Formats: sequence, C-alpha cells, structure tokens
Amino acid sequence: MERNTNKVLGYDVDLLSFDEALDIVTENMQNAKGMQIVTINPEMIELAQKNMQFSVILKNADLVIPDGSGIKLALKLKGIEQQQIPGIDFAKELIHICNNYKYNIALIGAKEEIIQTTVKKVQSEFPNANICYFHNGYFTADKEEEIINKLVSENPRLVLVALGAPKQEFFIKKCKKLMQNTTFIGVGGSFDVWSGEVERAPEFFRTMGWEWIYRTYKQPQRLKRIYKTLPVFLIKVIIEAIQKKG
Ligand code: UDP
Repeated sequence: MERNTNKVLGYDVDLLSFDEALDIVTENMQNAKGMQIVTINPEMIELAQKNMQFSVILKNADLVIPDGSGIKLALKLKGIEQQQIPGIDFAKELIHICNNYKYNIALIGAKEEIIQTTVKKVQSEFPNANICYFHNGYFTADKEEEIINKLVSENPRLVLVALGAPKQEFFIKKCKKLMQNTTFIGVGGSFDVWSGEVERAPEFFRTMGWEWIYRTYKQPQRLKRIYKTLPVFLIKVIIEAIQKKG
C-alpha cells in the first residue's frame, strides 16, 4: 500500500491515526512480512542530520510514527493536523495483537532487573503472547552477536528494542537483514515505565502531548538533551514552514 507521508526537515513521517498504523502493522504481522517501525521525535531528527548512518536508517524505515509533540507541531506549522502516536502505547497494542494471534515476541533492552520485571508483567497481562527470548540492554559486541543469533533462531514475530535512540535503531538494522518475518520497534524507555521503575505522566499531560515535560521534571538529566536539540529543531521547522509558504 502506498504510504501517506510528509517530510519534517527531510525525514518522512507517516500521516495516519493510531488505529490505521495498527492495522498496517497487524496485517504485516499476519503475513509475516517483517518491518521496522520508528517512533520519531525531534531529538532523532537532530541526530540524523549529524549522523549519516542514522539518517539512512530513518529514511529506510517502513513506518515512521509521530511520537514526539515536536513532530506534531512541525506538521501543524505546515497546515497538517496529525495525531500524536505515543510509541509506548503503540508498542503495548502490538503486544496485544501478538497475544490475540499467539505470536512469539522478544524483548531486548533496559537494566537486568527492569527487563526481568517487564517480562513478568507483560506475561501476566498477555498470557498468549509468548516471550520466547529477552535480554537486558547492556552487552558487549560479542554478546550482541550471540543475542542476534538467538533472535534469528527463535524467529519471533515481534521484537521490542529498548536501548534508546540511536542504539536501538542500529541494533534493529543488524537484525532486520537476517529476520525478514519479524516486526521491529524501538521503544526507548518503555520498559522502565512498564516495570514500574519510572512513573508514566498523568492523563492530563498525555492528552496535551506534554508527557516529555513531565518526564523531564521526573528525570532532570533529560533536560540537557532537550535543551540541546529542541530549540534548534523548532527554529528549523519554522524556517522550513515559512519557506514552503513563501
Ligand atoms: N539502555 C540500554 N542499554 C544502553 C543504553 C540505554 O538498555 O546501552 C536503556 C535504558 O536502560 C533505558 C532505555 O534504554 O531503559 C533508554 O531510555 P530513554 O528514556 O533514554 O529513551 P527515550 O524514551 O528517551 O527514547
């Protein structure tokens, strides 16, 4: 199916609703048609503009869902109303689908105790989604090879990778070429939230698209990252929008 996308600073973002995105991925999973889903935010675009390899990955992703409110804003400046699709909620729905169809899933990333708790929680909430493999996100290059071999042999229908960007996207790139039937999604800090280690923002912040503000308040170390990228991103998207109109 032809994708309906629009570019933000040169990077395609899919224009669709949460349910439409879910339908696309469900159909691909039913047909065992592997894909890479990127949940894009301004920090990733800023990084891609400096890192060629990451840029190529973003450009080759099969589905790019607008996770950050900065992406929603960038599209709005171009006159496009796009719903924000939080990656953490989307990933949960993908597990739900695997539960319905009894597909195998694998989870990679986060600290050891966090992945352990996440696995237990996911397994109890979705007993039919068989977690065939999991590993924490702190491994050496040798171990990485072992993890990838294990993933290849287990051939799960869905792999959730929580290493943060761009690490998770580089990891997925390595797996993807060996696993054509698997859907991959980078889920950032989702396991930290699912395990209960990090609190999810209250409903109000989420509906306003301000989850990042709450997370920054809870984890002030994030401020440096946002401070370094968000203002520059916003200036660039404003300039882009003005040029398009002019
Ligand atoms: N992480 C990991 N291995 C690493 C670096 C990070 O498993 O080498 C994990 C980290 O423990 C956390 C996640 O990756 O669970 C990144 O979370 P962050 O909140 O930075 O991601 P975001 O949601 O902002 O993309």
